[in-house]
Amino acid sequence: MTPDTSIEFLKGIGPDRARLIKKVLEIATVNDLLDFYPIRYLDKSKVYHVKDLTENDLLEVQLKGKISGLQEIRTGKTRRLAAKFTDGTGSLDLVWFQYSNWLKEQIPQNREVYIFGRINVFNHHFSMPHPEIEPEEKREDENRLRPIYPSSEKLTKHNLGQKFFQNLMRRICAEIPNLVQENLPEYITTKLGLMPRQVAYLNIHFPKDIQHFQQAEKRLKFEEAFFFQLSYGLKKKKHEMSAVGNPFPVVGDYFNTFYEKFIPFELTNAQKRVLKEIRSDMRRPVQMNRLLQGDVGSGKTMVALLSMLMALDNGFQSCLMAPTEILAQQHFNGISELLSGTGINIRLLTGSTKTAERKVIHEELLSGSLPIIVGTHALLEDNVRFKKLGLAIIDEQHRFGVAQRAKLWAKNVIPPHILVMTATPIPRTLAMSFYSDLDVSVIDELPVGRKPIITAHRKEQDRLSVFRFAKEEIDKGRQVYFVYPLIEESETLDYKNLMENFGHIADFFKDQNVTMVHGRMKPDEKDANMQYFASGNARILVATTVIEVGVNVPNASVMVIESAERFGLSQLHQLRGRVGRGAEQSYCILMTSDKISNEARKRIKTMCETNDGFRISEVDMQLRGPGDILGTQQSGVVDFKKLDLVTDSVLIRQSKDIVEYIIRKDPFLNHPDHQLIRNFYLKNYSRRHMWSKIS
Ligand code: ADP
Ligand code: MG
Repeated sequence: MTPDTSIEFLKGIGPDRARLIKKVLEIATVNDLLDFYPIRYLDKSKVYHVKDLTENDLLEVQLKGKISGLQEIRTGKTRRLAAKFTDGTGSLDLVWFQYSNWLKEQIPQNREVYIFGRINVFNHHFSMPHPEIEPEEKREDENRLRPIYPSSEKLTKHNLGQKFFQNLMRRICAEIPNLVQENLPEYITTKLGLMPRQVAYLNIHFPKDIQHFQQAEKRLKFEEAFFFQLSYGLKKKKHEMSAVGNPFPVVGDYFNTFYEKFIPFELTNAQKRVLKEIRSDMRRPVQMNRLLQGDVGSGKTMVALLSMLMALDNGFQSCLMAPTEILAQQHFNGISELLSGTGINIRLLTGSTKTAERKVIHEELLSGSLPIIVGTHALLEDNVRFKKLGLAIIDEQHRFGVAQRAKLWAKNVIPPHILVMTATPIPRTLAMSFYSDLDVSVIDELPVGRKPIITAHRKEQDRLSVFRFAKEEIDKGRQVYFVYPLIEESETLDYKNLMENFGHIADFFKDQNVTMVHGRMKPDEKDANMQYFASGNARILVATTVIEVGVNVPNASVMVIESAERFGLSQLHQLRGRVGRGAEQSYCILMTSDKISNEARKRIKTMCETNDGFRISEVDMQLRGPGDILGTQQSGVVDFKKLDLVTDSVLIRQSKDIVEYIIRKDPFLNHPDHQLIRNFYLKNYSRRHMWSKIS
């Protein structure tokens, strides 16, 4: 038997069963079997008393007592065997529906035995069908935790139930010394107190006790984290060593003049720190790949602009790409305003840019006379070509895929530096794993003078007071958002709702201008209405989530989110970020119906408790799991067998530190200490993408 042996050739399997197992469990080889971990364990060290059994004990239990009164009931098809089991605290029935005479004779009566099995309840009376029986004196002390494997009815029907897998795994585990090889050097296992790999595999299937199970699990989790990070780390290293990138050696007039004369405020320390990180990246002849995380309102745009000025000082063009037309427009407006008086040329390219303007843009980009372009994914089109693109900035990462990032790379012979900005902070562990090919900068400080947004939860019966409160704020000169969910399946219904509510709001706020934006509008109309609100002419904006990302109206101080239970946490946080952008105290009011699910309650509570995007993202990950946070396309990337990004942050941190150390000291894994790692890596992780070139 080798790890690659097909399970078809294992005793008692054969081609038909092998096909079934492969189909249901995706297990094809001995190695797959080893990695087929139990979902839980039957604790043979725990003995229940009959009197303590409850109707909720659906799991298998172990009892200790005596069997008596064994008798056959009925004959023919309904024939069965029954007995009584008593442990001094109570009794239950044992039943066998199918049995041989041999089995019948094996059942020990009137002496102490252990029985295991699943409890059935009928009329408050407990019974156990087909118990497993172990005489007290024959009891093995080893393997007191019995593995329970993931199963399905389909398998059980074909006699591939727990018994089958337990026996199979027992045989496989006996071969572990030949099947499982160590893949970590001793200096790592010693440092972290990890058990040897073989021992870990044995104990994940047949733990000696709880402590051994925990140690085994830790070891296997560490491995997953370690090799995952290693593969990203090596990829990154390879990228660095291949050393293509435009070095920006100088900081010159454009940057300095702007910095000294045009910035309307003092940069926060976090902004300064991040700029330094970007500067030292771009100084080197290696392409920058940096993720900039910063909560809404933390001032990422200014960082983007200053980075683009660094590119310009070195004779390079930059582009800034946003996911929506409104956002691109807003970036364009904001940056144009900041640059006015500097004489720096900047233009906007979106889907609705007129042909004439488009032509000018194409020419200016190609001739190099246009140093900065802002736009939507229209920038990705093939006919958008640059003379010297040195820096590509992507705002709001979550809307763009990796493939689109790659498309930007190709716009220059030497790929441009890439800065990805996101206002949707993702949990540290997730960033560490998913973005391990990016360097991460964080703006963890808001500009001074911002007051934390006050968030409250209100229900339908509070509506009048919510409206009154909004009115007071408007009377103080502020503006208000009302946001409604639009969910695709019920879009027509939601849309109808939106219109009705717009009517109610317009009625209540009679003497105010109320405007609206939603996804069914033409871009022109949307922009016009948005503009009407942004300019202060309308005091109220009724909107769907089209305003979610990046919209900036500093005078707006109240965000009312309707049917807030229907929004996810990160969406709620994004929406809330539309207020609190000016100096005034801002408010976010989460309206929900009376009855909401526990999960929704947790989301609302979290929102009311904190403004910290990172905290919110942690809770979000606990509620939804890492896959959903990244979106379905990318979720496979973090599909770990044992590792849990929510609870294993310490292990992830440790593995990352060690990986960084190894890559720094021995990027080719040439050191004798690293041969185990290297071999395992080559076999299991390198796949097509890399390494072939390194070694
Ligand atoms: P985000 O990180 O959400 O993109 P923006 O870049 O839109 O944030 O900045 C939000 C607001 O804060 C803008 O009006 C911007 O001009 C302002 N701002 C940015 N940096 C500072 C600062 N250091 N001090 C004061 N205001 C700032
Ligand atoms: Mg922004």
